[in-house]
Amino acid sequence: MFIGGEWRGARSGATYTVFNPATEEPVDTVPLGGPEDVEEAVRAAKEAFGDWSRRDFEERGEILRKGIELLKAHREEIIQTLTLEQGKPLHEAQGEFDHLLHGLAYYADLATKVRGAYQPLPSRFGPAYGLVVKRPMGVVAAIVPWNFPLTLMGTKIGPALVAGNTVVVKPASTTPLAALKVVGYLNQAGLPPGVLNLVTGPGRVVGEALVRHPDVRRVAFTGETATGRRILELSVPDFKRVTLELGGSDPVIVCPDADLDKAVRGILIGRFWNAGQACLAAKRVYVFEEVYDAFLERLLAGVARYEPGEGWVKAERPRIRMGPLHTEKQRAEVQSQLEDALARGGKLLYGGRAPEGRERGHFFLPTVVADPDHDSRVVREETFGPLLPVWKVRDLDEAIRLANDSIYGLGSSIWTYNVKWIHRAAQEIEAGMTWVNQIHYGYDELPFGGVKQSGYGKEHGLEALEYYFETKSVVIGDLGG
Ligand code: NDP
Repeated sequence: MFIGGEWRGARSGATYTVFNPATEEPVDTVPLGGPEDVEEAVRAAKEAFGDWSRRDFEERGEILRKGIELLKAHREEIIQTLTLEQGKPLHEAQGEFDHLLHGLAYYADLATKVRGAYQPLPSRFGPAYGLVVKRPMGVVAAIVPWNFPLTLMGTKIGPALVAGNTVVVKPASTTPLAALKVVGYLNQAGLPPGVLNLVTGPGRVVGEALVRHPDVRRVAFTGETATGRRILELSVPDFKRVTLELGGSDPVIVCPDADLDKAVRGILIGRFWNAGQACLAAKRVYVFEEVYDAFLERLLAGVARYEPGEGWVKAERPRIRMGPLHTEKQRAEVQSQLEDALARGGKLLYGGRAPEGRERGHFFLPTVVADPDHDSRVVREETFGPLLPVWKVRDLDEAIRLANDSIYGLGSSIWTYNVKWIHRAAQEIEAGMTWVNQIHYGYDELPFGGVKQSGYGKEHGLEALEYYFETKSVVIGDLGG
């Protein structure tokens, strides 16, 4: 773990093993942190806050930029670690690493561009004016899931640090290794001890101790909706500021005028990137009946190119490497969601099982199922794996009604050039994001976050920075004259 500027074990001395999802063999061991380690990390972060919050904005941005350079110098080591612990292919790990650097650079650049406001005031009690100033909040808990261990940490620590807060990171138990390296290099770049800490250990213990800690003022969480609910409950007694980036079941609408090749390519990447384990993955596809058959033909040809395998072995062109699911539990969940869909009228068009000849690793074939009932689990729940359900729709009214028939509201997309349909999708789909003729992707420049049970608050963009400041009004009076 990394606490107060030092590498440390757990106070208890306990450790646990991180396993490779492709081989089920151990990758490394890390400390099994407990409440006493959280206590020390929060204390270190609290002590570091005064000095860090008063540092020049330029200096904070500069340290982050130096950190980015150090990370670049250790690119290969970090990418390989990510592939070994998470399972994703090397090219996807590279993509995640580059996205992390891009996001950190975005916030390093923003460090010097924070603005408040000036407000003239009525002279009821003498001449006065007001200022709206922004103050960092204090200690931030950053709780991160296993699907994108680096980018989802970066979206929290980037804005938190440039705003002048100090941070304790809690990575997912199964993916602490690449995150530890990143935190180590950022510290090496000149962060004062205690500004950025990382505690490894179970969410129920380390995560909850962090969220309950009275000195933690801000909780930034990404993970499952059920965990988000628990975190919110734990945050209530101290009225902490919480942002929750939770699950999604993103609908995709393919209209008759769509460029089908582009739509299929976008949906394939949108669904099968990271073996389908993405919050903003394309999870339900609604295709106008006019183009349904042509769409499916192209889709199935594309799906057949995916080849599940070890992330560190390149697939032979034109095959595309897809990694294993992250855990056995995850694979079993996808399998049971598929069985439910098949029991409720769905037709299996591709995949539907583990690939043959593999005794080790949580692999699952890319899977397409057509027309399961609209109340089956693939609609009601988040499908966090390479399972894509597809339905035929008559018109946009039906497509939007079905798109909105979900407890989730994270992302959504539409493939069309009809400006009226684009307008309707943008206005009527209940989601934090609508992509038009574009792959589901979280740009660092645009606010990202869900509605309904996909959570609240935003990550990315200028907007995210606001969640790491307290706004304070200052009235300047007795000005003389
Ligand atoms: P979890 O909610 O299980 O875990 C997320 C993090 O929370 C982990 O670090 C976990 O630790 C920790 N945690 C678990 N229980 C608690 C608790 N009681 N108190 C505090 N912390 C806790 O999610 P997954 O790791 O399974 O991640 C997948 C989920 O993340 C999916 O639902 C996905 O949609 C969502 N997600 C949302 C995104 C968004 O931006 N909206 C983006 C990416 C993913 P531990 O690992 O030790 O259990």
